[in-house]
Amino acid sequence: MPNYVDLHMHTTASDGLYSPTELMHRAKEVGLRAVGLTDHDTTGGIEEAAHVAKALDIEFIPGIEINTDVNGGEVHVLGYFIDYRQPAFQATIKVLRDARERRGQRMVELLNEQGVSIEWEHVREIAQGSVGRPHVAKALLAAGYVQTIGEAFDKYIGTGKPAYVPRYKLTPKDAVHLIASANGLPVIAHPLDLPGLAELRNWLPDLKAAGMVGLETYYGQYTSEDEQALLALAHEYDLIPTGGTDFHGPGIHPTPLGGRYVPHEAVEQLKAAEAKRRGTTPPVFKLPPPVEEK
Ligand code: AMP
Ligand code: ZN
Ligand code: FE
Ligand code: FE
Repeated sequence: MPNYVDLHMHTTASDGLYSPTELMHRAKEVGLRAVGLTDHDTTGGIEEAAHVAKALDIEFIPGIEINTDVNGGEVHVLGYFIDYRQPAFQATIKVLRDARERRGQRMVELLNEQGVSIEWEHVREIAQGSVGRPHVAKALLAAGYVQTIGEAFDKYIGTGKPAYVPRYKLTPKDAVHLIASANGLPVIAHPLDLPGLAELRNWLPDLKAAGMVGLETYYGQYTSEDEQALLALAHEYDLIPTGGTDFHGPGIHPTPLGGRYVPHEAVEQLKAAEAKRRGTTPPVFKLPPPVEEK
């Protein structure tokens, strides 16, 4: 049975390999009827993708993914149906992207100090939009220092590796507030990744109170046991179970575009939540003072 829904994917606006236009054509090819676009810290791919999706008769949900910091790991927060044109929201995500730039430059400096000669200009050229570690990895690959993207992470830029630099991140609660301030629906992404479910359970009551509405349940390679555990958790906290592949392009994450069954109910429930929210005044988000990367 073909899968009709995929609510987690990236384009060249962040660290995906396909342009928004290409990605929507791939979505059509694999039979998707509803997609959510969730680039990191940018909405730069949304208008192009929405335009192409419309022409291809694919239902399109504008979204974003914001990586946040918790002790010992990262919690990624997705935001669906954001009013992405809102100036205050755009100003905030630009702060996040600017922090990515400085952090990228620092990683290149560290690599240079370690005798690895790649240039920031090259990394910047590879990244068409929001810059991330995958772009540094591609520069390492192009210069012949590694044979695969994975090796670049293992050897140099993975967490705790010699050229790893942390970057300015919001807390999960701030990310929820930021998305809510743009009338969006905050959803916890891949909840079983670090820091893990036990740690996440400690955060959930607070996140729910802050306005979290969903839990990514049908994700990438998660097993049916994982899915059951997350469904139970979603039920417990009255969260919408969403899902998707986190497709970045071939060879980056294991699940192909549309390669995970996500019930269409996820889309219906998100739409119902969006309709309920429409017309209400969103809370104002104030960016916490930036904490510079060490
Ligand atoms: P950043 O947001 O710049 O910290 O980069 C994180 C992104 O790098 C993630 O969204 C993944 O797409 C990618 N990534 C993280 N770890 C790995 C890995 N071991 N191999 C390949 N890609 C990775
Ligand atoms: Zn990514
Ligand atoms: Fe993520
Ligand atoms: Fe993602």
